[in-house]
Amino acid sequence: MCGIVAYIGPREAYPVILKGLKRLEYRGYDSSGVALLNGDLNVYKKKGKVAELEEMLVGKDVHSNIGIGHTRWATHGEPNDRNAHPHISASGKLAMIHNGIIENYSQLKQDLLRKGYTFKSDTDTEVLLNFIEDIKENNECPLEEAVRIALKRIVGAYVIVLIDQEHPDTLITARKGSPLVIGIGKNEHFLASDASPIIEYTKEVVYVNDYELAIIKADELILKNLGNERQTPFITKLDMELAAIEKGGYDHFMLKEIFEQPQTIHDCLRGRLDAESGSITMSGVTKYAEQIKNANRIVMVACGTSWHAGLVAEYIFEELCRINVEVEYASEFRYRNPVINKGDVIIAISQSGETADTLVAIENAKSKGAIILGVVNVVGSSIARISDAGAYTHAGPEIGVASTKAFTAQLAVLTMIALKIGYEKGTLSQERYLQLVRELDAIPEKVSTVLLQAENIKKLAEKYKDASNCLYLGRGYNFPVALEGALKLKEISYIHAEGYPAAEMKHGPIALVDEALPVIFIATKDSYHEKVLSNMQEIKARKGKVIAIINEGDEQSIALADDVIVVPEADEILSPMLSCIPLQLLAYHIGLAKGFDVDKPRNLAKSVTVE
Ligand code: GLU
Repeated sequence: MCGIVAYIGPREAYPVILKGLKRLEYRGYDSSGVALLNGDLNVYKKKGKVAELEEMLVGKDVHSNIGIGHTRWATHGEPNDRNAHPHISASGKLAMIHNGIIENYSQLKQDLLRKGYTFKSDTDTEVLLNFIEDIKENNECPLEEAVRIALKRIVGAYVIVLIDQEHPDTLITARKGSPLVIGIGKNEHFLASDASPIIEYTKEVVYVNDYELAIIKADELILKNLGNERQTPFITKLDMELAAIEKGGYDHFMLKEIFEQPQTIHDCLRGRLDAESGSITMSGVTKYAEQIKNANRIVMVACGTSWHAGLVAEYIFEELCRINVEVEYASEFRYRNPVINKGDVIIAISQSGETADTLVAIENAKSKGAIILGVVNVVGSSIARISDAGAYTHAGPEIGVASTKAFTAQLAVLTMIALKIGYEKGTLSQERYLQLVRELDAIPEKVSTVLLQAENIKKLAEKYKDASNCLYLGRGYNFPVALEGALKLKEISYIHAEGYPAAEMKHGPIALVDEALPVIFIATKDSYHEKVLSNMQEIKARKGKVIAIINEGDEQSIALADDVIVVPEADEILSPMLSCIPLQLLAYHIGLAKGFDVDKPRNLAKSVTVE
């Protein structure tokens, strides 16, 4: 959600910023802009895609060695040219980009209006900028000092980056709650929301922490806290290659990421799961193994697709570890004064590791004595850093806005944790443990087999693309997969879809069933299979169209269904990692057949950094 890029150093800033903004497009945005300093302060911004900004700038003077760029995901004020960032201060000397929300902007705006300020946009960002400028002028202090004073009065979340016409050798930046990475080059610095715009220039980065402020020159990085104390920048090395963030011959990132899953699940298991010796090594989890085993309950906190992974994990943990599990939407959990007892274990699941609601939810829980385990994809992200321990999903950068490979990697990590804890706790027999370890090890290969169905699924997409509603039904471990399948379809094809536990369908949704309604069943062979077949009968009796995800040789389902997609058999605990894949492909192909931008669906953002 929203992207920021900034550069200072010997290179031309504009091409670096433009390329960086394109790399951040996946995060979701509605307008973009840049500010460049070269004697003059030139600000160009526009509603729409970065390519439109680029077109507008052809022939313009973009020469500069310092600049800031932004893709905006509107929160305050509609997406238009005026509200796009960067914003310019009342004096015309400062330009600023901002990711996040200034919650107390209205009060600050009233104060500034009374002082005679006028505003060119409807954004909270312009209010903060003028607030900073007002402090700077009243106190006759350096910009850095004004920023520090202003931020102490700000309620909300932000990354801000400012440039000052009077100090063309300095960038000022600060963060609270939104992501910020600084890349350290040779006499140059790169700033961005994540590492993807930085990776081709340097692998040395500093992740800025909340309430930190940086004063950055080409050859100097000064980090301070808001109390004005110098902090030592902690330099980490990026473990990521440029190729990982490019399309690699696929038409879309989403398709590439779906097809990467045999590899990403393998990467996730590698070095942790040893099928031969039957061991699972997860150092972060080992550190807290006793507490997890003895926990009265585990709370999974997540949003969107990660929440669905949490639901699957609820079934798995309760079965294998006999620990009570609750799965919470982070946005609800953080506000409803939940009962948290010392020793509760919170598992925070997030692809980006920057999901604002999840981040605050775990901060609250941590302050009440809970142990926080993070299951996160992006290394060094905020959730990873605030967690007591955890396990990275190692799925690599996920660029497609609709999550695919991150979901299966989350399932793999959560399953490994449950297996390890269940076995050590003694609630899972050695025989069953070893069987599941071996089966988990075989999942990447089975995923490759599912992917062979891609052409078949493309044909089904053509057949069903004009449906206006779809129902997804599953039971047990595959009930959350039904939810996830419906979510994918909504996100990518804008078709209204609902996921339900198959039996629950009788308590309402069955009223929707007619010959125009495709009903997608996850009907793989598990302990619910017979029941699911009955549910299928009920849909057929009302003339609904049945598409069934089944295992090879399931004649009963074949006889009932209009169309089938075959996936390899797996233990029911592991089957979601297979059954979700045809649903990802179905959503992809329907979205594509309808002519939509599958990598950047409308209104959606990849990393939801506002609440
Ligand atoms: N709240 C700011 C705005 O609406 C920034 C949004 C963003 O993060 O892109 O302009």
